[in-house]
Amino acid sequence: MRVTVDLGKCLGYANCVADAPEVFEIPDDAMVVRVLQDDPPAEMRKAVEAAALDCPARAITLVDS
Ligand code: SF4
Repeated sequence: MRVTVDLGKCLGYANCVADAPEVFEIPDDAMVVRVLQDDPPAEMRKAVEAAALDCPARAITLVDS
């Protein structure tokens, strides 16, 4: 699974961080998300899917690798 974020859409709501903190973070000095793991293990899939659904900006894309 590949995870990408369109940083042009990300508005820093942090819903994704709440759903999958192992995969997403918002650094203290940033207003947009940082992807910590762009190829997370399968057991994180549900959390990452939840993050994508919960993103108000629809900035997160998952692609099966
Ligand atoms: S939920 Fe969406 S808009 Fe909010 S920080 Fe995550 S990627 Fe960005």
